[in-house]
Amino acid sequence: MEVLLAEHAGYCFGVKRAVKLADDAATSHPDGVHSLGPLIHNPQVVEQLAKKGVKKVDSLDEVEDGVVIFRSHGVASPKLFEDAQAKGVTVVDATCPFVTNAQRDAKQLIEEGYQVVMVGDRNHPETKSVLGHAGGEILVTESFEEIKAYLNKFPKKRLGIISQTTQTYGKFSEIVVRCLEICEELKVFNTICYATEDRQNAAEELAAKVGAMVVVGGKNSANTTHLASICGNRNIPVYHIETAQEIQQDWFPGIEKVGVTAGASTPDWIINDVIRSLELM
Ligand code: SF4
Repeated sequence: MEVLLAEHAGYCFGVKRAVKLADDAATSHPDGVHSLGPLIHNPQVVEQLAKKGVKKVDSLDEVEDGVVIFRSHGVASPKLFEDAQAKGVTVVDATCPFVTNAQRDAKQLIEEGYQVVMVGDRNHPETKSVLGHAGGEILVTESFEEIKAYLNKFPKKRLGIISQTTQTYGKFSEIVVRCLEICEELKVFNTICYATEDRQNAAEELAAKVGAMVVVGGKNSANTTHLASICGNRNIPVYHIETAQEIQQDWFPGIEKVGVTAGASTPDWIINDVIRSLELM
């Protein structure tokens, strides 16, 4: 059976950087490294880091000394930096630079007096970190109608728009264009990071050429689950697995080509393991 890997698959820049920073911190501070929340949505990597001494905590209150790592989505408030420093805890900031840019742009728009809209999911940790750093009111939504209703209630002539980094360009640009109808001045920062969309487009393209797809990544990873559902639109068998051990012999009857893709928090070593196992079938 031929095994084809999607053109874009696995670790994005921000996740790769966060894992490297955590690895380095574990080496230089063997006495105590903590990650505030799971560093990434991949249980195998979190487990591997735990073996090296990186312990997950849910709150800074659980950290007395050593190092705390802020994960790639960013933290909910800049005050956490001050609180950590006040406790004598060293901060390793693994916030992805794309998220830092979104935080900076949101803050700038608020300081310039715009009503700020963030096109995204208000429950996502990244969105919460942007809200926490911007220091002002931001409407988070993926619905133009909601923006319109909000402006009817709280009229503002100047609208500033940013995007959650994982937003698709299509959705973002559609909302931006429609907002031209409802304000006098519009300022837009395109804060999309194309890692997610690149992986989605590559998965869709590959799924069109093969008899089955294997999607590799944490079952708790939203972007991996989304990749699986995109591949599923092609009406081929799609298997979402975390490791090669889950692959079953009877999954590919008569299939000549199988495609492999992986979410942005899946490391190369897991993807390569899966490819090797599939090639032996
Ligand atoms: S998806 Fe983009 S913004 Fe998010 S961590 Fe990866 S590189 Fe950074």
